[in-house]
Amino acid sequence: DLSSFHARTGGGLINGAHTRSIRELDADICESDRAMKPVLVVGAGFAGAVYARELAEAGVPVVVIDRRPSVGGNAHDCTNTDGLLIHKYGPHLFHTNMAKVVAWVSRFCELDEYRHRVQALLPNGKFVPLPVNITTVSEVYGRTFASTVELDAFMATVRIEFDEPRNAAEYLYSQIGKSLTDLFFRPYTRKMWNEELEDVHPSVVRRLQIRTDEQDLYFPNDKYQFLPRGGYTALFQSIFDHPNIVLSLNTGFSRELERDFDQVFNSMPIDEYFEFSLGELPYRSIRFHHRQEIGDAPKIAVTNFTDEGPFTRETTWNALPGNQASGRLAITKEEPCDYRDNNLERYYPVRTADNRHVALYHRYKELADRDPKMAFIGRCGTYQYLDMDQVINQSLQNVRIWLSNTTKSRFHSL
Ligand code: UDP
Repeated sequence: DLSSFHARTGGGLINGAHTRSIRELDADICESDRAMKPVLVVGAGFAGAVYARELAEAGVPVVVIDRRPSVGGNAHDCTNTDGLLIHKYGPHLFHTNMAKVVAWVSRFCELDEYRHRVQALLPNGKFVPLPVNITTVSEVYGRTFASTVELDAFMATVRIEFDEPRNAAEYLYSQIGKSLTDLFFRPYTRKMWNEELEDVHPSVVRRLQIRTDEQDLYFPNDKYQFLPRGGYTALFQSIFDHPNIVLSLNTGFSRELERDFDQVFNSMPIDEYFEFSLGELPYRSIRFHHRQEIGDAPKIAVTNFTDEGPFTRETTWNALPGNQASGRLAITKEEPCDYRDNNLERYYPVRTADNRHVALYHRYKELADRDPKMAFIGRCGTYQYLDMDQVINQSLQNVRIWLSNTTKSRFHSL
């Protein structure tokens, strides 16, 4: 599919820079307009894609490199042997309240409405809704709550007040008390982060809603929830399909590339760029265990595990739009691990309650700020646990600011 992309794209795909130097790419892209100097974008995930496209549309030639053989960063998807669309790096569900983000994405693909639900598997074998809601609490405590008012009154008896929760445990205790916290969050968080809730920053678990009504959507507050029709890979191919963009996959960043560009937007891990000179920024990674089996597609795509085993959750891809056709099920189980135990695959920046890794990131950021032509972007560049819509929003804002601050003369060749 890469070669067909090559054929389609105006700019072109160079699959591996071994045969041609970036300087040659630069020469290629500038053939038609030598007045413009290209910008280098490192990483073909959402951050890089938004920068590349916006720059290209503003008339700036862009070279995008990615060390992986694929576009889309961790949103990359592909089809399995049964033709089902699988998100290679775990389920990526688009949810947002930002209309302008939806408007931007929908320029490049059709959107299939998809409202995500998750169930948790309890130790007794029963499935209950997540977020924790009235049904969940009724099942766990073995009693019926007739209304939100009744459940609120009960929750008031189990909550432990913390005015300003200092960690994930205190936040959760103040919301749902100790029993529900220890059932739904303690083992899962230990597996996911290799940390106790007491050592995890509250923002990590605040991603989940806590409900005292019947709401069972995983993202109940987000107006727009969808998946790109045809998948993320097709979406990225469409974003990169612009005459001002040259995309070079299988191409890692090296410092010598900088010489050829006046501006770099870099989504690589910021600590790696500085050769870990101040120490390493940790990441959690995931080992994905795929299987195909005969069975009926469940209505709910994701099951979270409350047990102490190594797995956090399981996705049955047949439950996502476009994948409903009968046939075998495709199921992926997730086993979190340190990124150093998974081929240096960085998925999640680690946010501890004491913010020590964030502090280290800021020291790297100070180094980066001394170099006017190097800007770090995206999850790994800014060491933030960002959702796709946040990355798109930040990138749109920042690239537009950069474009308006950058006079045309900046691009004129000497
Ligand atoms: N979490 C948990 N139990 C669950 C789901 C989430 O303890 O069943 C905690 C866990 O610490 C997790 C965090 O909440 O890392 C955020 O969960 P989310 O589902 O947003 O994670 P993601 O989809 O980004 O992996």
